[in-house]
Amino acid sequence: MIDNQAIRNDFPILKQKVNGKPLVYFDNAATSQKPQVVIDALESYYTEINANIHRGVHTLSQLSTSAYENTRTKIKTYFNAKFNHEIIFTRGTTESINLVASSFTAILKKDDEIIISYLEHHSNIVPWQLLCERTGAKLKVIPINNDGELIFSEFEKLLTNKTKLVAVNHISNTLGTINPIKKIIDATHNVNAAVLIDGAQATPHIQADFQELNCDFYCVSAHKMYGPTGIGFLYGKEKWLNKMQPYHGGGEMIKEVTFEKTTYAGLPHKFEAGTPNIAAGIAFGTAIDYINSIGIKNIASYENELLQYATKKFLKIDGLKIYGTAKNKTSVISFNIKNIHPFDIGSIVDKLGYAVRTGHHCTQPIMQFYNIPGTIRASFAFYNTKEEIDGFVAAVKRAILMLS
Ligand SMILES: *Cc1c(COP(=O)(O)O)cnc(C)c1O
Repeated sequence: MIDNQAIRNDFPILKQKVNGKPLVYFDNAATSQKPQVVIDALESYYTEINANIHRGVHTLSQLSTSAYENTRTKIKTYFNAKFNHEIIFTRGTTESINLVASSFTAILKKDDEIIISYLEHHSNIVPWQLLCERTGAKLKVIPINNDGELIFSEFEKLLTNKTKLVAVNHISNTLGTINPIKKIIDATHNVNAAVLIDGAQATPHIQADFQELNCDFYCVSAHKMYGPTGIGFLYGKEKWLNKMQPYHGGGEMIKEVTFEKTTYAGLPHKFEAGTPNIAAGIAFGTAIDYINSIGIKNIASYENELLQYATKKFLKIDGLKIYGTAKNKTSVISFNIKNIHPFDIGSIVDKLGYAVRTGHHCTQPIMQFYNIPGTIRASFAFYNTKEEIDGFVAAVKRAILMLS
């Protein structure tokens, strides 16, 4: 069970007013808000133990190193990876995908194939296009149906012995579709290709178990799961990470450097050149503790209640159309109203205190598929309430009156 009032008290920003109105934050798919414990963790790092990690023998350096490495252990445990060294810290999902795409330059050959889907965020499209340009490999795209679900039988047709990598998201940030990734992973392994899952939108809402999924790579951003910006990770199976070339060169990632030859450090440090965002890394661990204290299953069931409630209420608004009607979806609702431009609705409801995203949500191919310029997207987290949804429905109706 979710004690909504207690939870709301954990998030100081929810007490804010915006444009003189109480803030209602429905832009969780872009980034989540942070509980006080995460904000405190950032501050106490800088006030108490600030020092560079993995370097000094001095006390502060040891304290900061162990706090930072502690997050790696929490991630390994929470997501059930096999080894700590399979967790590579990055700036987030985008960097994690680019790391894999860059390291696959030496692995792919001309005419090899990479499969992505129509549902991908630009950060799971562009790095593969760049990789194809470098290697001569080809990009194939899994189509979707009108509900915004991947068409699995079409995916099976694309899989051949030329397929070297399949990269799909776990949950679509625009439509909320939960993809059948276990089926995708198993089918891909049948042709001996690797699978990368963009998990940016899944980890705030549902549990991912890396060993059970048996994925080769999984990418996460802390800021979407109540942690800080500027930190995230790439999970990679040890056998793949050992095969891959380092992404960045520099300090931290070497064993020995001479001008003739450099040997690399072992995993995970081989992929972690330079001083990372130490404070954010430590606070990411606090965010995982916070999620655990509430329970991801409780979060998922409460958010599903919000989704069902909001869907029903939204559909009562005259002329409203929802994009993304998959059977299996999370608390994201993308919609338009008749031919009103999404930006106009977004601007008016903002004046009334409601934060929603308007536009293409970094998924232009989805907009091309539905032949629309963009949508209004309301995305809910476990600190949102049914009262907020009622208020939003009233605000949207008011906007429609003003615009028609
Ligand atoms: C947010 C998001 C990304 C990009 O994450 P960054 O934190 O900006 O790197 C990629 N894919 C999906 C599905 C997302 O929701």
